[in-house]
Amino acid sequence: MNDSLMEQKITNKSAPAETSAAGDSLAELDSYEAFLQKLQQTINNMGDRRIAIIYTDIKHFKYINDTYGYQVGDALLRDFVKEMSTSGSHIICCSRVYSDNFVSAGYVEEGVTNEALRDYIHQVNLEREIQFREKYLNSRLKFCTGISIVDKNSRSFDAETAVSNANLARKVAKEMEEDCCVLFDHSMMEGIKREVEITSQIPKAIANHELKVYYQPKIETESLKLIGAEALVRWQKPDGSFVYPDQFIPFVERSGQIVDVDYYVYREVFRFLADRLAAGSKVVPVSLNVSRIHLSKMSILEYVRDLFEEYRIPAELIEFELTESIYLDNTERALELVTGLHNFGTKVSMDDFGSGFSSLNLLSRLPIDTIKLDRVFLKDDTLQESDKIVISCVVDMARRLRIVSLCEGVETPEQSDYLKEIGCQIQQGYYFSKPISQEQFEKLMDREQVSV
Ligand code: C2E
Ligand code: CA
Ligand code: CA
Repeated sequence: MNDSLMEQKITNKSAPAETSAAGDSLAELDSYEAFLQKLQQTINNMGDRRIAIIYTDIKHFKYINDTYGYQVGDALLRDFVKEMSTSGSHIICCSRVYSDNFVSAGYVEEGVTNEALRDYIHQVNLEREIQFREKYLNSRLKFCTGISIVDKNSRSFDAETAVSNANLARKVAKEMEEDCCVLFDHSMMEGIKREVEITSQIPKAIANHELKVYYQPKIETESLKLIGAEALVRWQKPDGSFVYPDQFIPFVERSGQIVDVDYYVYREVFRFLADRLAAGSKVVPVSLNVSRIHLSKMSILEYVRDLFEEYRIPAELIEFELTESIYLDNTERALELVTGLHNFGTKVSMDDFGSGFSSLNLLSRLPIDTIKLDRVFLKDDTLQESDKIVISCVVDMARRLRIVSLCEGVETPEQSDYLKEIGCQIQQGYYFSKPISQEQFEKLMDREQVSV
């Protein structure tokens, strides 16, 4: 990109006071209001030119603040601003929208396609990541960028709409593991519509018992006996069709409604187990998923305490599954949560172990009873030698730490045999059973030689 064409007017107005954690260091940026005004003027006068609105978010920035303190966080923001305002494209204005969200706008050079611009920014992000990760000792730091383009064929010439489109593309980028830079496209609005539709239907779905709890058996490797189950939610619409968790959990996590969904599932499970016990039927422990969103509210501890008081089931019948990412979000809070849940006498497992940035030292710091190896390790029917090494090392390490190991996603007899060979104590996966309805699960428990 040709820097000589860059019109870089960076005025001396500070970011809004309440968002300006980095204080005066970011003062060279436009205020967001000034940014919108400049962008609107530029759009009004753009003629045949194209304007790119580039919205960037620093993923896992909070981790830096929490781990190294605000001073280091501020230094990182300063570095980023310096870098953003001098890195190529024809920047006209830059602003901090809030916290670690920045927006800049500039003309796209003639001849450079929108896709080429995206690729260029993608590359810039990757280079920034290498540089920043080294400097700030954070292997998770990631720059996520959304780009919207305004040209003479655009549907809207409104500066705010252009920024909100770029922001929407940024949200899409943030959810992608690989791609850190996404161009806005009108089909994204469909995704938003779907999200709004789902989140607006959830309260009714809860009230009308459209959410159903399914149970996936857990099998003891040595005896091949049923020794527990994981509760997994399904949404059965009035027309009988099912909506699976992957299609609605991400939305309800964002809206915060996951707390109500989880509580609903917990209550269903407590009631189910209490009813079985009252009828003298056999039961096995059931594990409940704990969304990371609970960390910000922490009312879960009270809710669970009340459920134990109300249903009076033994604590050994309940286990909680927390994904490893929860611990990285906020280790201190996660520690508080795990300890609180543990204090009820319930077991706690680390879910999806190995799916993200596993932090091995967390295992020794937290009161974890079980680790659930993510099914990524079993992605192929025939186990790769490298996966075998990793699985056996994790199982061995767990054993030494006196933590039970469970492998998820077991689909073939070969995988199951290998897990037995290396001493992985529990298995869960389609090879044994898919998640089943409560009625099917009851039949299974009635048939099985289960004991608690
Ligand atoms: P998860 O906790 O890792 O749950 C295991 C997922 O793997 C389940 O998908 C299960 O059906 C699937 N699975 C089990 N065995 C196999 C296998 O052998 N092969 C394959 N390919 N898949 C297998 P499901 O039920 O669609 O749930 C997806 C995710 O949604 C769960 O992942 C969990 O993170 C979340 N989730 C489900 N129910 C709840 C809930 O009640 N509360 C919360 N917070 N999250 C939930
Ligand atoms: Ca789980
Ligand atoms: Ca899992």
